[in-house]
Amino acid sequence: MKFGGTSVADIDRLNRVAARLIERAKAGDDVVVVVSAMGKVTDDLIGLAHQANPKPCKREMDMLLSTGEQVSIALLAMAIQKQGYEAVSFTGAQVGIITDSVYSKAKIVRIDAACVLEALIQKKIVIVAGFQGRTVDGQITTLGRGGSDTTAVALAAGIKADACEIYSDVDGVYSADPRIVPKAHKLDTVSYEEMLEMAASGAGVLSMRSVEFARNFDVVIHCRHSFKPADVPGTIVRGEDPSMEDAVVSAVTHDTNEAKITIRGVPDRPGIAASVFGTLGQNNVNVDMIIQNISDAGLTDISFTAPEDDITSVTSALEICLKEIGARTWNIDRDIAKVSIIGAGMKSHPGITAKMFKALAEEGINLDLISTSPIRVSCIIAADQAETAVRVLHTAFGLDQE
Ligand code: ASP
Ligand code: MG
Repeated sequence: MKFGGTSVADIDRLNRVAARLIERAKAGDDVVVVVSAMGKVTDDLIGLAHQANPKPCKREMDMLLSTGEQVSIALLAMAIQKQGYEAVSFTGAQVGIITDSVYSKAKIVRIDAACVLEALIQKKIVIVAGFQGRTVDGQITTLGRGGSDTTAVALAAGIKADACEIYSDVDGVYSADPRIVPKAHKLDTVSYEEMLEMAASGAGVLSMRSVEFARNFDVVIHCRHSFKPADVPGTIVRGEDPSMEDAVVSAVTHDTNEAKITIRGVPDRPGIAASVFGTLGQNNVNVDMIIQNISDAGLTDISFTAPEDDITSVTSALEICLKEIGARTWNIDRDIAKVSIIGAGMKSHPGITAKMFKALAEEGINLDLISTSPIRVSCIIAADQAETAVRVLHTAFGLDQE
């Protein structure tokens, strides 16, 4: 069971989470729980770091941010003990979550969860700090924002758990953000593929890395509400069921945390894109959409999107490599949004893109970049039109529910 930041934001909520865990343990389940930092603690720590140094070193960032989760595991253990049940908390390093050494977005390479299993045998509720691990040589790392989901899924796979339940302040996965689309509805099941596309295009319920992990290790995820009764179902994320008739479009997502970078006047010859994106990759920038235009007089323009959080890395990467290859100019546009439609049934239905573009055109929304996968179509538009776009697409694809 994993509880996110809002579910453990204060002592009152920690007590309610503790009660829920004890109830499960008393029902006979072995309970392992992963928690995030309380409320906005991670954001606050990032704020402090930037006051100390506008360009903080990533190793020290991880040292700092990992403390957020360490606070919540200890408090949760105390809350459980106060309610008369045994509990023990562990940091990521203590439970043997071994990662690579890419600070701030480390990948888990293996988990040696012996101490978790041992504590379970002693009938304790085991609490593990989300979002963190250690390298083979003992350095503390973090897994990237939202990384506690990944800890939960990886741990579930590592200890061969029967289920991985991810609790938050939402009921499950919705057909669109209900804060923007009041007629959005909760989805009962979502396939890994759809969930991956949704997470990659702005759905905040699960982190993308956690879904990837779940798919690779076949961990069924149940996304549920932290404070609704135990018999209220959420959304199940699992492998595609061939007997199911797939919805053409299951969800509309949006993401306003990306920026668009345009490089103009790039020499149009083999090796240039490899060099630009190679340098970005070495700087650990997660590039998303890439569009290259047809060339004019041997020069071309390349646009791509990347998370706004990665902009410092983008800037340092481009400053080096663009000088080498000789590009004319480049600029960053932060006022963009990505809206996407996602659905496993799209694979076998023509005309979906046209329908999407028409719905957006009728609202006078201009499309800046477009990209597709077999089960997703995404458009980059002006940030201030994102909410309108999500609403009209939700209606156009018949997802509205009274
Ligand atoms: N506390 C970390 C974050 O805010 C990890 C998590 O909550 O999953 O990103
Ligand atoms: Mg989270």
